Amino acid sequence: MLDLQKIRADFPILTQKVNGKPLVYFDNGATAQKPQVVLDAITKYYSEINANIHRGVHTLSQWATDAYEESRGKIQKHLNAKHAHEIIFTAGTTHGINAVANGFAALLQPGDEILVSAMEHHSNIVPWQMLCERTGAVLKVIPMNEKGELIRSEYEVLLSEKTKIVTVNHISNALGTINPVDYIIQKAHEVGAAVLIDGAQATPHLKPDVQALDCDFYVFSGHKVCGPTGTGILYGKEAWLNKLPPYQGGGEMIATVSFEKTTYADLPHKFEAGTPNIAGGIVLGTAIDYLNEIGFEAIAAYEHELLAYATQKLEQIEGLRIIGTAEHKTSVISFNVGNIHPYDIGTIVDKLGIAVRTGHHCAQPVMDFFGVPGTVRASFAFYNTKEEIDIFVEALQKAVMMLS
Ligand SMILES: *Cc1c(COP(=O)(O)O)cnc(C)c1O
Repeated sequence: MLDLQKIRADFPILTQKVNGKPLVYFDNGATAQKPQVVLDAITKYYSEINANIHRGVHTLSQWATDAYEESRGKIQKHLNAKHAHEIIFTAGTTHGINAVANGFAALLQPGDEILVSAMEHHSNIVPWQMLCERTGAVLKVIPMNEKGELIRSEYEVLLSEKTKIVTVNHISNALGTINPVDYIIQKAHEVGAAVLIDGAQATPHLKPDVQALDCDFYVFSGHKVCGPTGTGILYGKEAWLNKLPPYQGGGEMIATVSFEKTTYADLPHKFEAGTPNIAGGIVLGTAIDYLNEIGFEAIAAYEHELLAYATQKLEQIEGLRIIGTAEHKTSVISFNVGNIHPYDIGTIVDKLGIAVRTGHHCAQPVMDFFGVPGTVRASFAFYNTKEEIDIFVEALQKAVMMLS
C-alpha cells in the first residue's frame, strides 16, 4: 500500500493553486511532476560538483564523472541490462528513436520493410518515414482492433524476411493499451528482425527487464519518470550498438581524429557526442531511485485502482465514450462526450484547477482510426487520489451541462 499523504508531500507543486483552485494534475502522460529529492539533487549538482565530465584531471571533474557514471549504473540495474555501456544517455525518447533510425540507414536496402503499429506516437512514426525516404525501405503498419489492441494474426502476416526492424510502444500514450511486447519481440526475432520498444509511456508505470524481454532497443524519457526534461535513455544490445554508426559527431565520441580519418570511441561514448545534460543524467538516476523506493508493484496496483475507479465514474456520464478499452490498460483514459469538442471541455475544467490533455496526443493516426478529431485525456500517477477523480468528474459534469 502507498502512503499517499507522505508521497503527496514529496511533490511541492501539488500544493499549487491554479485559477484559484487546488491543482488537480491529470496530465501525467505528457510529463510527470518532480519530487523534492529530484529538485534538491539538481541544486546539489550545480552547487557542489558542477564540472565537465570525462575530460578533466581535476577533482571536481572526477566527481561529476563519477556521479554521471553511477547514474548510468543505476539505470542499467533498473532495466536489467547486461552491461552499463549498453545504456546511452539521450535527450529523450524522440532523440533515442532518431539515433536508432539514423543508424539503420546504413543497414537497409530498397524494399526492406519497417513495421510500426497503428497506435504509435508521432515520434515513433516520423523518424521511420524519414528513414524510408532516404533508403527506399517501406513502412508497414500493424493494425489494431476497435478496443485499441494490436491484431496478432495481422502482425504475423506482415512479418517476413524483408522485415528489418519492428518498432512499437510498450504502452500507448493515446489509449493506455499495454502491448504484448514479449510476444511481438519473439515473433520479430523468428524472422531475424530487430525490435525497438518505445517505453516512454511504460516506464512511469512498470519496470522493464530488457534481458527478459530480449528487445534490441528500449527507449524512454526522463521527464515522464519524475526526472528532468531533456533527459532520456537509449538501451541497445551491445552487438547492435557496435553495429550501428553514430548519429552525431563531435567531442567525446571519438577515439582519434585527423582530417583523413576519425575513429569512434567505444560504447557508450560513441553515441554521446558533445557535453551532455550532466545534471539531468545524474538526477535521472535520483528519480529512478525514488520510484524504486516506492516500488513499481505498489505503483501499478494503486494506479490500476485509480483507473478502475475513474472508468466506472466516467461511464455514468451520458454520452461519454472511452477511446481505448483494451483488456490490458494502464492509468490513461481518453474520452469524448457527445459531439462536444475536447478543447472546450479542457478549457472549462482548467478554470476549475484541473489539468487534462486535449487534442490528438501526437497520435493523429489513432484519432483517424476512431473517427475523432481528438480526445480529452486524463492520465493518473501514483500521487493522484480518488478525491481528485471525484473533483474531476464533478467539473466534467458541469462542463458538459454548459456545453450541451
Ligand atoms: C511522450 C512520448 C514520446 C515522446 O517523448 P519525448 O519525451 O517527447 O521525446 C514517444 N512515445 C510515447 C509513447 C510517448 O508517450
